[in-house]
Amino acid sequence: MKKIAVVTSGGDAPGMNAAVRAVVRSALHEGIEVFGSVRGYNGLIHDELIPMTLRTVSDIIHRGGTVLYTARSPEFRTEEGMQKAVDTCRRHGIDGVIVIGGDGSFRGARDLTARGIPCIAIPGTIDNDIGCCDETIGYDTATNTVVEMVDRLRDTSQSHDRCSVVEVMGRHAGWLAMNAGIAVGATSILVPEVEYDFQRDVVERMKEIAKTGKQHFIIIVAEGVGHVDELAKKIEEATGVEARATVLGHVQRGGTPSARDRILASRMGHYAVHLLEEGKSERVVAIRNSVLCDYDITEALEMKKPFDMDAFRMAAEISI
Ligand code: ADP
Repeated sequence: MKKIAVVTSGGDAPGMNAAVRAVVRSALHEGIEVFGSVRGYNGLIHDELIPMTLRTVSDIIHRGGTVLYTARSPEFRTEEGMQKAVDTCRRHGIDGVIVIGGDGSFRGARDLTARGIPCIAIPGTIDNDIGCCDETIGYDTATNTVVEMVDRLRDTSQSHDRCSVVEVMGRHAGWLAMNAGIAVGATSILVPEVEYDFQRDVVERMKEIAKTGKQHFIIIVAEGVGHVDELAKKIEEATGVEARATVLGHVQRGGTPSARDRILASRMGHYAVHLLEEGKSERVVAIRNSVLCDYDITEALEMKKPFDMDAFRMAAEISI
């Protein structure tokens, strides 16, 4: 292993920079040259590669987003685009690629490995929706961001006796919604993994809780569940409590990565370089029970992470 490339791909997540830094510095420590691919897989396709040095990754550990930029690259999903990426790697003598991204990026890494370029994937996504991995880079920061934002909403909804209906990211995964919901003590948490009954899980809950003297409410809704404006209207009609919808949107992706994400990213980046050095390829770096490990990408893509129903039920029990 003489030269490798590092790629940040798909949706950005806070902590990606810390992972890039760890990859670059761990590789240089091992005497391996590193290129940074600009804008995800597009950098490989269009030969936009930056030579990375110890100093190109200075002062990025605390920055959100990704200094390498990221992209969704439809071209990479075509055979022609994939071949161009392979050609770029061959031209530069790149004998390994480390990709930081979500499951879409993992599929790209699998396909690139199949064409002779060994790849290692690192899970970077705020959704925490990678089956083989307890926690993904960016998830902790995003959870903290949601909590901070909802705490602010709580101040105003408490002052006005309102109900705040807050949409958080997660089209297919409710981890962010559930754990942020637990941390803010949400009255109801609605996630795509669990079917809900509007009357039972929202209206009746609010009415029961109101009887105990509580006059403001927070409902956390994962993006995949439905439109919060409509939900807020329905809540107001059904309960008489003034309800306001807030869509947190992309603020959840940005911001300074938490210490936890920086540490996870640093450990995973370092681990990925050592996998390549050991001659491994088509692996996903993961963390299970606080221990780093790795899985075959295809197996990892098939693994499902069962939703934590105990935590979900617990939240309902104590958030009254
Ligand atoms: P994420 O990595 O956050 O899940 P995407 O799903 O957008 O984000 O995937 C990122 C990139 O990975 C895509 O733009 C594409 O280039 C590549 N990719 C996604 N799905 C596939 C696939 N099925 N096969 C090959 N490459 C893929």
